[in-house]
Amino acid sequence: MKLTNKSGLPDVLVKAIKNDNYTKGESDFSVTELLQPPRLRALKTRHFHEIEEDAEDKLYSLYGQLVHLLIERAAHEGEIAEKRFFAKFGNGVTVSAQVDSLSITSGVLTDWKFVTAWKFKGGRAADELWTAQLNMQLEILRQNGHDAKAIQIVGLIRDFSKPEARRNESYPQSPVVVAPIEMWEREKTQEFINERIKMHTASALSLPECSKEDRWATDDTYALMKKGQKRAVKLFTDKAEAEAAAQNLAQHFVEFREGEPKRCAMYCPVNKFCKQYQSTLKGADDDQNSGTVA
Ligand code: SF4
Repeated sequence: MKLTNKSGLPDVLVKAIKNDNYTKGESDFSVTELLQPPRLRALKTRHFHEIEEDAEDKLYSLYGQLVHLLIERAAHEGEIAEKRFFAKFGNGVTVSAQVDSLSITSGVLTDWKFVTAWKFKGGRAADELWTAQLNMQLEILRQNGHDAKAIQIVGLIRDFSKPEARRNESYPQSPVVVAPIEMWEREKTQEFINERIKMHTASALSLPECSKEDRWATDDTYALMKKGQKRAVKLFTDKAEAEAAAQNLAQHFVEFREGEPKRCAMYCPVNKFCKQYQSTLKGADDDQNSGTVA
């Protein structure tokens, strides 16, 4: 993986990103890897030495690592903090999980996230993958002789706005949100882990497609517009409904807005090598989708 510095970030930050000593230890998969889309992970493995990532795109991940330093600093007796655990699944596949903190005294397993406010609309954790992640961690802990009575996410809201909190009740009311996470039956978690292992193992041989959720794709919409105004009066997902609304109003018309696979376009490190994404780009042709594009 090559790290670029297109925006000329200070050297200290670039070095800090470069010197990340993350390792999944002696495991076949980490929990984080299993939760990635299999196509993305397989392409990452295939093109590891060709992938370019820019330092600017790694900043939030770097800031997130600061949180883990704080957890280590606050660690105390009766707590397991910042430790990697290993467990075997299926046909002897080893999966590892990095645990942020397990309080032995209160029996609460906590994962910390440094995220935007929209991830906690209404005070609840909006990301379903977090539920899977925490339950997978718990299963691995159980196989190591530990247990928890509750699991939770502590969200540190990196873009918290006090005025917005005042205006909007469903916005996080504090820059720190503690959100309980649903605990799955053990059987469900074990099945989930085994299924993810199967998907990732198979993807090494034959690339699956990423789903709409994997691609963070938004829906196509039809915007009801008023002549002379830039902002939509209303957004519709149904074209006929939008056109009917426009017909009933003078000076109104419908504008088509194509949905966007946000992860593919802005956040996926392998988008350059991915035929599924490249083929959706305007002007994509056969040449573009040949060679190392898979
Ligand atoms: S570019 Fe999109 S479709 Fe391709 S691997 Fe990345 S997320 Fe999946």
